[in-house]
Amino acid sequence: QHILITGGTGFIGQRLCPELLKRGYRLTVFSRRTDDDVRARCGRVNTLHTLADLRNLDALDAVINLAGEGLASARWTEKRKRVLRESRIDLTRELIDQLEKSPLRPATFISGSAIGYYGSHGGEPVTEDAPVNDDFAHRLCADWEAEARRARQLGCRVCLSRTGVVLGPDGGMLERLLLPFRLGLGGRLGDGQQYLSWVHRDDVVNALIWMLQTPDASGAYNVVSPHPVTNRTFTRTLGRVLHRPTPFPVPAFVLRTALGELSAMLLEGQRVMPARLQQAGFGFTHPDLEDALRSIIGG
Ligand code: NDP
Repeated sequence: QHILITGGTGFIGQRLCPELLKRGYRLTVFSRRTDDDVRARCGRVNTLHTLADLRNLDALDAVINLAGEGLASARWTEKRKRVLRESRIDLTRELIDQLEKSPLRPATFISGSAIGYYGSHGGEPVTEDAPVNDDFAHRLCADWEAEARRARQLGCRVCLSRTGVVLGPDGGMLERLLLPFRLGLGGRLGDGQQYLSWVHRDDVVNALIWMLQTPDASGAYNVVSPHPVTNRTFTRTLGRVLHRPTPFPVPAFVLRTALGELSAMLLEGQRVMPARLQQAGFGFTHPDLEDALRSIIGG
């Protein structure tokens, strides 16, 4: 089986690609990087540098579409918002346009999305059919999903991964938190009551492979651990795993000043539940936060 992956060199992709190779899949990774760089990150894969060249690929069984500029890597200025949208929505549109022009008809199209789809929520549990609150993150995810759903017109089975905050080594949110926490400078954000819907990277990879291998899976899935925690609990748990105190709460106004609109992601939070994955009997490898953090950090 041959899979095309966009965003394969990223934090999730770098773990996903070796797992798929191990299972015998053939992979082509769409990337702006050199072939050597892509192979150093992903393993023995082919590379594709322009989507227009997609028509030259031999048969394609599935597409996994994860590309997108980092959501948390810069303040959400108007310019940055455009980049965040173009790198997901425009790229997905072009990907499907190119598939349409080609003879390729992959059976499965799996596309990234995020729990930002729901907008900010209070402490009530959010499942896949929860009402949404309209904000920038919601529109970004909703428009990204809408482009991906167009793949249905090509006869693809479409799955959308509404991914939570991914925890893993060497990247993602944890990488940014580890230094201040190790220095004993960690602390809850705002009043600490807001929920953090986290997920271990291994479970994201397993969920994507489950979507790939489950013929009747389709539509949106929340890819989050079944046990979201408040920011206060997350802070205490990370401090415990690192054997460090977490005495310094970061006041909400400091985060708002430093991060602008992006701070809403950290201050408002969402308590997202993986209802559809659980109904389907999907088993999480790391459902519990303390165990997940120990598996990543040790200790
Ligand atoms: P990364 O930021 O680590 O990697 C994203 C990949 O997308 C990069 O490797 C890059 O590939 C590609 N990319 C970025 N910008 C562009 C662009 N302008 N044009 C083409 N390709 C681009 O992301 P993650 O692995 O962490 O996440 C994968 C997806 O899942 C992302 O879309 C992200 O928004 C989403 N997600 C991630 C979460 C997380 O906590 N990590 C949470 C929720 C959703 P290259 O450099 O090879 O071209």
